[in-house]
Order: sequence, then C-alpha cells, then structure tokens
Amino acid sequence: MVKKAKTQLTVALVLAALSIVLFISFGIFGTTYYTNKKLDQKDLQDIMFFHTQNQDEIINDLPPMVDDSYKNIDEKKVGDPTDPKAPRRQYFYIEVKDGEVIDARENMPNNFFDGYDDSAEYNGMDLSSEETQDYLLSFGSSGSINYEDMHFIFDSVETGDITTYYFLDTSLTHRFLENTLKTTGLILLLTLLYVLLISRAILNRALDPLELSIENQKRFTGDASHELRTPLTAIRSNLDILIGYDLTKEEQEEWLNNISNEIDRMTKLTNDLLTLSRNDTIEKEKYEFSLKEVFDAVEFNFKNVCKIETEGGDFDIFGAKEDFLQLIMIFVDNGIKYNSKEDKSIKVKATLDKNEKKFKISISDNGDGIDNENFEQIFERFYREDKARTGTSGGFGLGLSIASNIINEYNGVVKVSSELNEGTTFKIEFPNVNK
Ligand code: ADP
Repeated sequence: MVKKAKTQLTVALVLAALSIVLFISFGIFGTTYYTNKKLDQKDLQDIMFFHTQNQDEIINDLPPMVDDSYKNIDEKKVGDPTDPKAPRRQYFYIEVKDGEVIDARENMPNNFFDGYDDSAEYNGMDLSSEETQDYLLSFGSSGSINYEDMHFIFDSVETGDITTYYFLDTSLTHRFLENTLKTTGLILLLTLLYVLLISRAILNRALDPLELSIENQKRFTGDASHELRTPLTAIRSNLDILIGYDLTKEEQEEWLNNISNEIDRMTKLTNDLLTLSRNDTIEKEKYEFSLKEVFDAVEFNFKNVCKIETEGGDFDIFGAKEDFLQLIMIFVDNGIKYNSKEDKSIKVKATLDKNEKKFKISISDNGDGIDNENFEQIFERFYREDKARTGTSGGFGLGLSIASNIINEYNGVVKVSSELNEGTTFKIEFPNVNK
C-alpha cells in the first residue's frame, strides 16, 4: 500500500516538475526564438531598404569590414548603412529577369566581384550554377532555406521586370537556437532525473516510518488474535468436557475453575491491549505529585502478595500519577512472577539528582534473572523468554512494552542488569520537567 502510494506520489511530483520545467524552458526558448527571428527579419528589411535606396553606391563601393576580427563575430547587426565602419551581417542578393539570374552579389569586400560572372559565389555556394539558382528560386518570394550547413532567410523586391532576392545568412542564429534547444532538452532531462531522485529520497524518508508502523500494527493484530485464541480454545474444550461427560460436582468445579482462570487471562490480555492502544492515543492529565504517593500505592496493592521495600521518592515530579503507578507495578509484578524462590524480595528506590534536573527509579528483585542476550527483545510486544512461555505464571509479553511506552512518553531511558538465578535490576532515568 505504502509502496504504491510512493510510486504514485513520485509520478505526481515528476509530472508537476515536468510541467513547470516545460513551461519555463519553452517560455525562455520561445521568447529567444521569437526575438531572434524578429531581429533577423528586421536586418533583412534594413538590407533591402539600404539597397533599394543606394543601389549604385553599394554596388560600386561596398563599405569594408572594419577589421578581420569581425569575420568571427557571431551576431553582426546591420549598422548604419552610410557608416563605412559599421559591421555587416553576411548576405547576398540575386537579380532575376524572366526567370533567369542576371546578377548575383555578396556583401563581403574580400570576395567582392564586380558584375555577375562565373566566379560569383557565397561561402562556397556557387551562385552562378543553375542548380543553385533553381534551388534558391524554388522557395517562392520570401521565407527561409537551408543550404548545406547554412541557413538563410530571404525576401524579394520587384523593380520593373527585375526581381531582386535578398538572402541574409542566419546560420549563426540558427545554430544558436538549435544549441539552445538541445541545452534546454538536456536541462529538462537532468531536472527530471534530479526531481525523481530527490522525490524518491524524500518520500522514502517520510513514508518509511509509516510503512514500519503499518507493519508493526499488522504484526500486533496478528499476535493479539493468536494470544486471544489460546484461552478461547481452552475455554471451548473445558466446556465440551463439562457438557459431554457425566461429572461429579468436584470434577465440574475443577473444569469451571479452569474456565474462570482462562477468562481472567483473557481479561488481563484485553486490558493490556487496551492500555497499549490508549497509551498511543490518549492525552492524560498531568500535574505535580510526590513519587512517595506512588510508592505507597504499590506497597498497598501488593501487600497480600509480597513485601515491597521502598526507599526515597520524597520529591515532586510532573506527569500523570497513574502512569508512574502502572510503570512501577509492571516491574514489581514481573519481579514477583519471574521468581521461583520462596523468599521473594523486591526493592523500589527513587533518587533526585543534586541539581534536581533528573530523577531515577530502580526496581530490583532476587528472581530468576534474564538472559543478557534478551535485554533488547524483552521490551518488544508479545516477547516472552522461553522459560516464561512454558511456565503458567507468565503473561502475554505486553507488560514491558507498556512500560517502555510510558518511559518514552516521559523521555526516560531504561537500563537492565541481571544475573541468572540472582535477580534483575531495572534503572530508569527521567528528566525532571519541573526544573
Ligand atoms: P509479561 O507481560 O508476559 O510478563 P513482559 O513484557 O513484562 O511480559 O516481560 C517480557 C519477558 O521478560 C518475560 O517473558 C520474562 O521472561 C522477562 N522478564 C521481565 N521482567 C523480568 C524479571 N524481573 N525477571 C526475570 N525475567 C523477566
């Protein structure tokens, strides 16, 4: 589900980026293209105007290029036509009469040829060849043409029975626009790749915890149903015996007791499950109270089970009293449950740091101990050590998860130390939010 959402979101993000980048790049490219085309057209019109106004002058005395460096300048604007120093763009024109080219000239002084002859050529283009002339004339009275790797725009003027075609070399503009288009395409591709990678990384970061939490939830529901099924099966089989057999009163009592125990276990389990889900969702009322009150309540709750020794705790902390009561009860309960000794001893101690910034609670027992390699797992939901799984006194492996939830809620840290058959100590350190 999350994977699908990730893919869909990535596609959506890439499409959004694509539209934005397309909009921007085509906006930029379109404007550049339009502006350049406009400038070329204007230059061509200027050239035509210049020629029609100063025919004789231009034919006999074309203004020289200012210096050789102009030959390599990309964009040579048609300058003031009367200024001999004005750099010029390269162009040529042909005069046509009755479908025949009668004259052809180009504007470069170096290649200047006086009159139309067989050597008339422009940048390697043989203007005198019939083939070239047919080609040039096949495009109508105005437009643009490609000739080998050159590009021209052209227009024509009619004077009497002579039509003059002006060709402006726009190869540089053309190449510039082509390169701009290629660069834009490359930028577009790179941007999309970048967006793809970044969005993937961001989505992974944002959705991985969600995926994990859904996985945990699934596992939790599975484990919970499994645990609920066990007492239900026991109840079912006990009931079958009660219904199907002719039992004495004592025998019936025994099976009914079993049922009652299983119901107690189920009640405990459902209560634990409720506590876990409530801890995840419900905001509890928090206030100042003395830990000593909690210690007294713990002693009272276990007074018929085991003597609990408490020490310290005579200071105020801020939180929900029921959380701390539940927390200590879980550790004390475990200390009693996982203790096969006759003489059980449970010690609960609380100390406040000198600067009152932290306080610590420790719960020690003289019970069976925990395998050091299980220290991490014991806080996981439904985790039970093997010995607890086989024994009847064990719970469902939810106690320490509930405790861990509470500890996390108060930004505490828990440490375990244990020795098999000697006992276990849980030390929890909390920041004192009061100070
Ligand atoms: P449960 O609710 O079944 O008691 P917990 O989550 O409280 O489960 O504890 C998980 C496991 O950690 C238990 O199955 C037990 O094996 C081990 N454990 C917890 N506390 C102690 C302890 N004080 N002494 C020995 N083993 C303990």
